[in-house]
Amino acid sequence: MYSSAARYIHIRGLVQGVGFRPFIYHLALNNQLFGWVLNGNDGVRVHVEGKTDHLELFISSIEKLAPPASSIREIIVREAPIGNFKEFTIRQSEDLTSEITEISPDIAVCEDCLSDMKTQEHRRDYPFINCTNCGPRFTIIRDLPYDRDKTTMSAFAMCPKCQGEYSDIMDRRFHAQPVACRNCGPLYELAFEDKKFHDIADILRMTCSLIEGGKIVAIKGMGGFHLACDATNEIAVRELRTRKYREGKPFAVMFGSLEAARQFLEINREDEQSLVAWRRPIVILPNKTTGKTLAYSVSNGFNTTGAMLPLMPFHHLLFDALNIPAIVLTSGNLSDEPIIIDNHGAQTRLKQAADAFLTYNREIFNRTDDSVVMVIAGEERLIRRSRGYAPAPFNLPFNADSIFAAGAELVNCFGVGRGNQAILSQHIGDLKNIETLDFYAESFTRYRQMFRVNPTHIVCDLHPDYLSTAFAEEYAQNNGGLPILKVQHHHAHIAACMAENGLDEPVIGVSLDGVGLGTDGNIWGFEVMKADFSGFERLTHLEYIEQPGGDISTHEPWRMALSYICRYLGHDTDISLLKFYNDAGPETINLVKKAIKFGINAPLTSSAGRLFDAVSAMTGVCIHSDFHAEAPMRLENVINKSAEGTYDIRVGEVIDPGEMIREIFSDIKNELPIPDISAKFHRAIISAIVRSARFGQDKTGIDKVVISGGVFQNRFILSCSIEELRRTGFKVYTQASFPSNDGGIALGQIAIAARRRREGTF
Ligand code: ZN
Ligand code: ZN
Ligand code: FE
Repeated sequence: MYSSAARYIHIRGLVQGVGFRPFIYHLALNNQLFGWVLNGNDGVRVHVEGKTDHLELFISSIEKLAPPASSIREIIVREAPIGNFKEFTIRQSEDLTSEITEISPDIAVCEDCLSDMKTQEHRRDYPFINCTNCGPRFTIIRDLPYDRDKTTMSAFAMCPKCQGEYSDIMDRRFHAQPVACRNCGPLYELAFEDKKFHDIADILRMTCSLIEGGKIVAIKGMGGFHLACDATNEIAVRELRTRKYREGKPFAVMFGSLEAARQFLEINREDEQSLVAWRRPIVILPNKTTGKTLAYSVSNGFNTTGAMLPLMPFHHLLFDALNIPAIVLTSGNLSDEPIIIDNHGAQTRLKQAADAFLTYNREIFNRTDDSVVMVIAGEERLIRRSRGYAPAPFNLPFNADSIFAAGAELVNCFGVGRGNQAILSQHIGDLKNIETLDFYAESFTRYRQMFRVNPTHIVCDLHPDYLSTAFAEEYAQNNGGLPILKVQHHHAHIAACMAENGLDEPVIGVSLDGVGLGTDGNIWGFEVMKADFSGFERLTHLEYIEQPGGDISTHEPWRMALSYICRYLGHDTDISLLKFYNDAGPETINLVKKAIKFGINAPLTSSAGRLFDAVSAMTGVCIHSDFHAEAPMRLENVINKSAEGTYDIRVGEVIDPGEMIREIFSDIKNELPIPDISAKFHRAIISAIVRSARFGQDKTGIDKVVISGGVFQNRFILSCSIEELRRTGFKVYTQASFPSNDGGIALGQIAIAARRRREGTF
C-alpha cells in the first residue's frame, strides 16, 4: 500500500501517564496508518501516513476518543513528507528535559480492570490492579518524568508476567507504571487487637464483620487514611464523632453503587456524571424526603449528604462482601490536622479513634484529601479541590512563569506559575496548626522540584497575620529579597473567577465572603468593585459594623446578632425572646454590648458571612458554630422555598441592611416560621446582589458581572443570583473548576501578579 499523504501531529496537554501513546498506536492501526508516536519534551508527537480520508478520520478521532483522564490542550497538525513507513511504532522517548511537567491526578479503577480482577489468575481479587487508564498517579509520584522508579512503586520489582505486560505494546498495561499483581505488588494488612491478617479473603471477611458489628476501621485510601463505619448505624456514627473530636461537621459517605445511593439521595443527570466520573469526588446531594435514611449523625441535621462511589479496587471488593449499602468514609485525622498518610502515623495518632487498622505496604507520597463538589445551575462546582483534580494545571492567556502565590489562610491552596500555566496545589487545609503548616511548606518544596519552578516573584494576601503571608515574606527574604506583592483578598477572589472564565478586562466584581482584610484596615466581605487584573476600585459595600470579640464571633455567631440589633434597633432593645439571650446569659450579653458601644476589641466589618451569622443566631438556627460557616449553612438548610416575601436592604453608596434587621426582629416577635424568615432573608440578599451590581453598572457602564466568595457556595444564593442577574441583562461569570471560597484565592493572586509584572508595576 502506498501512502498518499503524511501528517506531523503535536499533541500538548495532559498526555503522559494516561495511556496516550497506546491509544494513538491503536487508533493508527484501526485507520491503517503507518508511522510513529513518541513522548517529546512538550507533549506527544506523531507521524502518520496513509490515505487522506484515513488521516482525516484519525485526526478528528484524537480528541473524540482520547483516554478519559487525558486533557488535550492543543493539537497542531502539519503536512509532512512521506517516509514510506511499513508499520506503526512507538518510538523511544526523547530526552525528557524539564519541559515535561504535567502530572496526572489519580484515577478511579476502570471497568476493564474490575473485570480483570475477576478473570486474570494472577490478579484475582487483587486490590492493586490498574492499567494505563486507571490507578494512582499524583499520590505516588515523587518526581518527573513519570517512570516507575520515580514513584513509590519503586520498592516493588515486577514479576516476569507483569514485566511482559508492561513491555507489550498491545497490552492495556503497556507502560502502566504502577502495574502489579499479587505475586509482585503491594499487599493489604488488617490489624485487629493482637491479630494480623494478610489473606485478602480473611481481610474482607474480618473488615465486614467489624463494620457490620458497629466498629470503626481506619482504612488506607488513595491519598490518605479514612475512618470507616456503618453509615446506617447511629451508635457507631455517633461514636466516631466523639472519637474524632468533631461534633458538627457532616461526614462523607461511600455507597456501594449508584443504585444504592439512589435509594437515599436525589440524584439528577449532572450529579450522576460527577458521581461516576473517574475523578470520583464527594458529591453533595439532597437527601430523599421519603424512603431510606442514613443514621442521623452522618449529616447531623443537614438535609444533604456528601456521597461518593468506590474508587479503589479494594472499595469494590469490600462492597461486594458487605451487607450494608453505605459506609461513613471520613478523613483519617484528628480535628483539623492534615489527613494521615503513613501506616505508623495511623496506628499511633488514630489509636483512640479506630478499632482496627487496614493498611497496605505502598507509601502514599503526596497527601490528597477527597475532593468535594456540588452541582449548581447545571455545573459541577469545586468546593474542595484535591484528589482527582490536583495537580492538573490551568492555562492562562499570559505568562505566569516563576510566580509563587501563597494563597489565603483557611482551606488553603497555594499555586505556582510555570510558563502560561497556573499549577494550583491540592487542598492543604486551615493554616492554623503546625502540622498543616508543615504540610504546606513540604508541598511547596515538592512543587518547586516536581514542576521545576524557581520562584522569582511572590504574591500573597494583604493580611499580615496569615501564616501564608508570613511564609511568603520569609521565603522572599531568604532568597535574596525577591519582590513580593500583597493582594487584597476580594480582589483576588474576583480575579480568580475572571481567570477561570478567560476575562481580561474591567468587570463589576461582587464578592460575598467571610473575612478578608481591606485596604482601609477593616475586615471586608460584601464588596462591589470595578476590577481587572491590574487593580480595583471599591464601588459600594455592606455598611461597617462592630464584630465584637474579633475572630471569636465566627465561633459565636450570636455576638454578631447582638451587634446588628444594637446598631439597628438600639442597645436597649428587649431581646429576652431570642434564644441566644438565655443561652449566653444577661451578664455576658451586657459585657458584649459594652464592647460594641465603646468599640473595645470590636473591629469593623462589612462581611457578608457575619451578616448571615447574625441572622442565623437571631433566629436561633445556630448560636454556636462548631465548624467553619456552620451558621450560614444551617440557615440555608432550613429555607422554605415556597414561602413568599423578602426584606428591605438599601443599596447605594453603602449597602444598608438596617430595615431588614428590624423586619426580621419583628417577624421573630410575630412568630413567623423560621424557614420563612430564612427564605425572605436569602431573597433580600439576592436582590441586594443584583441591585448592587446595577449600582456598579450605573457608575461604570460595565455589564459583565463576576461573582465570587465563600457565600456563593450557598446553593440558593448562587443559582438565584445567576438567574436574576441574567434576567436583569448582565453577563454573569461564576467559578466551577476552582472553589469560590478561599481555596481559589491563589489562582487570582497568580493572575494579578502576572499582569502587574507585565505592566512593570511589580
Ligand atoms: Zn484499568
Ligand atoms: Zn506481577
Ligand atoms: Fe475569602
